[in-house]
Amino acid sequence: MNSKTPLSAQEIALELGLDPRHGEKLVYEHLRHIAKTIRRQSKGKLSLYMIPPRCRNCGYVFKDLDKPRKPSKCPRCKSQRIDPPLFKIMSS
Ligand SMILES: [Zn+2]
Repeated sequence: MNSKTPLSAQEIALELGLDPRHGEKLVYEHLRHIAKTIRRQSKGKLSLYMIPPRCRNCGYVFKDLDKPRKPSKCPRCKSQRIDPPLFKIMSS
């Protein structure tokens, strides 16, 4: 598993063969574990990086998330049009 273009949580779930109905949620919940698995399977050559979610309306970036998730609302402009976090697998 390797990606040059960012993957959504759903695409990661597909790659890992997770149930597509719950895949997105599972990926968010188990991201730390998934990141470790990727590092181990690649013998430390690859790491998983998160591109934080972003408000489509005002461009606010959710940098300080303690956990990956798709926020429901922008704290700055209250818009609900939020781009979900994306993930990249890159050489470390
Ligand atoms: Zn906003």
